[in-house]
Formats: sequence, C-alpha cells, structure tokens
Amino acid sequence: MWCNYQNLYFDYDFILILLLFIGIDAIIFLSLLIIFYKPFIAVKKLISENPFSDMYSFYSKRFNPFITIKEAILRNNDRSHAELDKLNKLEQYRREYIGNVSHELKTPIFNIQGYIASLLDGGLNDKKVNRHFLEKADKNVDRMINIVMDLQTISRFEAGELELQREPFGIYQLIEDVIETEKENAAKNQISFELFRGNEINVNADKFRIRQVLTNLLVNSIRYSKPGGGETNIRIYELEHHIKLEISDNGIGMDEKHLTRIFERFYRVDSSRSREKGGSGLGLAIVKHIIEAHGETIEVMSTPNVGTVFSFSLQKT
Ligand code: ADP
Repeated sequence: MWCNYQNLYFDYDFILILLLFIGIDAIIFLSLLIIFYKPFIAVKKLISENPFSDMYSFYSKRFNPFITIKEAILRNNDRSHAELDKLNKLEQYRREYIGNVSHELKTPIFNIQGYIASLLDGGLNDKKVNRHFLEKADKNVDRMINIVMDLQTISRFEAGELELQREPFGIYQLIEDVIETEKENAAKNQISFELFRGNEINVNADKFRIRQVLTNLLVNSIRYSKPGGGETNIRIYELEHHIKLEISDNGIGMDEKHLTRIFERFYRVDSSRSREKGGSGLGLAIVKHIIEAHGETIEVMSTPNVGTVFSFSLQKT
C-alpha cells in the first residue's frame, strides 16, 4: 500500500523494513566504533610520537602526501641544523679550550726551559745566580702544577665525578684558618684582612671545597688590590636556614660588562696582570662549580677603582 495524502494510508511493511535496516546499520557502526576506537587511538599516539608526526597532521588536514613529505623533510632538516649548530659550538668550545690550556702551559714551560739553558750555559757554576735560577724554575713548576690541578678539578666537576663530602663545621673557624694561611701573602701586598666575627655558626658543607672557595676569593682580593695595598672585609649574615658570606675589597674593581663572564674558565679582565700575579684564570670557575654543587649561589658586584664584593650562601646545620 502507498501513502496517499488524499486517502492517507501507508505502506507500513516498507517503513518497518526501512527502520530495521537503519537500526541494523547503526548497531554495526557502533560495534565497529567500539572495536576500532582503542587501536585507532594507539596508532594515532604512535604516529604523533614519530618524527614524521608533522606529516601525519598535515596529511590528515589536506590529503596532499607530497607536500606533506616535503614539509616533514624540511622540518627534519631544521632539526638537523639545530643539532649541527650545537655540535659546531661544542667543537669551537673544545678548540678554544685546548688553545687556552696550551697557551697557559706554554709560558711556564718556556720559562723553565730558559732557566735550565742559562744554568747549562755556565750559570750552574756562578754561585750568584744558580740558586736564583733554580728557584725561578721551581716557581714555574708550581704554576704548572696549579694549572693542571685546577683543570682537573673543573673537568671532574663537569663530568659529575666530584662528590661533595658534606659535614657540619664552624664557618668562622674555617675563615680564620684561611686568613692565617694567607696572612703572609697579604702582608707582602699591604692588605689587611678583617673578619667581623660573631658567635660560631655551623654550616653543612664540604669543608675542603669551601676552604678552596675562601682561598680563591681572598687571594683574588690581594691580586687585584690597588698599588699601596688595601683592606679585605669578611662578613657573615645569618638567615633562617642559610648564611650569606660576603668578601669585599677596595681594590681595582672591574667594569660591569665583565661581571657575567668572570666565572667562565680562562676569562680575565687583564690577562697580563693575572698571569704576572700567578693567576690561571680558573679560580672563579672553580668557585662557581663548588658553590653550585652545594645547591647555592654566588653573586658579584664591582665598581672600577672602588672595589669588589663577592657573596655566596651556605646551608646552616
Ligand atoms: P685569575 O687566576 O685570573 O685571578 P679568576 O678566575 O680567579 O682568575 O678571576 C677571573 C678574573 O676576574 C681575573 O682575571 C680578574 O680580572 C677578575 N677578578 C677576580 N676577582 C677580582 C677582584 N677581587 N677584583 C677585581 N677583579 C677581580
């Protein structure tokens, strides 16, 4: 029977069959959705983790595989360029590093060679100069040893081989020990050390390494003092869980532009002065490594011809 608007009657059998078909289709569609949903998500995830994921998203949007592949290659190319840049920088850094090391070692080696040659050329029999030449050669050997040991310390820190030996110790006591050791050197350069001492404070740190930090900073305050000497003050500020240790001098200071670079190895404001005073250009790099290995920070402020202030934090026990 057919639907007739005039007579308003329907072919009910046909509508029933149609509804049945629609129902079966819907059930099949839903079943397929349920079966394939999980694998579909898994494959999608796999593709998105793949370096060609860009190609996938592109593909799904535009259905143009050739443009997609080209894009993917270009993008991969960008990544390769970034990797290449990184490798080039590392290579340049390595070249600079080797250049710096050989440059640093060259001076003492040539000095030693010169003194030995002078001794062999007759100086050995001249009582006035033989001892003097040997002492000079000895000083240069010391310098070489210092450079090599500093380099070794830095590379061990960078390779993560140096583990801190934390222990509780009195920080004022340690500062006094370092001052005692450097007293003679300071006096020779007319530098006076002043420690503003309070009650002893115990810190939790690697005593041997903190001694190295204090020594490097105090020695620098002597090295970069003004002609005629000066004063180095050491103060401690106590905070809730930390202390802040400050070493300030009234030496030659340095321009602001150097402040971000002085912790780099071999960076010097005035190379000839540093070398003349026995510096290797590695002292502050070591200081920074040690402080950062403790999970602490170091800061510097300086004004040319006025002085320099270094301050770092340490954990209290
Ligand atoms: P160096 O062996 O040359 O002293 P450092 O790493 O200890 O090497 O210091 C790097 C540079 O920072 C020095 O060459 C010097 O120019 C500058 N510097 C460090 N400490 C001071 C200071 N107290 N006053 C002025 N300049 C300083």
